Amino acid sequence: MATEKRYICIGCPLGCEVTLTIDDAGEVVGFAGNKCKEGERYVLAEYKNPVRTFTATVRTRDSSQPLLAVRTNKPIPKTLQVESMKVVARTKVAPPVRIGDVIVPDLLNTGADVVASANLSS
Ligand code: SF4
Repeated sequence: MATEKRYICIGCPLGCEVTLTIDDAGEVVGFAGNKCKEGERYVLAEYKNPVRTFTATVRTRDSSQPLLAVRTNKPIPKTLQVESMKVVARTKVAPPVRIGDVIVPDLLNTGADVVASANLSS
C-alpha cells in the first residue's frame, strides 16, 4: 500500500504543499501540489537525503566572550547534526577570530567547514 508524505517547498515564496507518494519498496511514485519542477526536486532531496546548515556555538578561551557562534559553510546531512554537536562541544577557540575563519575543517568528512559567524577580538 502506498504512503504519502507532505512537505512545504521552500523554492519560492509560494510555499506549495507537496505530497510525495511512496510505494511499499520506498520508491517515489508520485508528486502532487507542486506548481513547478523545483517542488519535485526539493521534496525528492528532502525525502532521500535532507541537508541543513549546521549552527552552534563553541567555547572560547576568553571569559569576557565565553561563546562564539559558528555554522557550516554549506549544508550537511541532517542525520549528522547530533555528531556535529559532539565535535563542536570538544572544540575551544582562542582570540582573535574573524568572521569566516575555519574553526573545524571538513566536519565529519562532509567537505563542509565549521566557520566563525562572528568576530572574537583579543
Ligand atoms: S513548487 Fe515551485 S512554485 Fe511551488 S513553492 Fe516550490 S518552487 Fe515555488
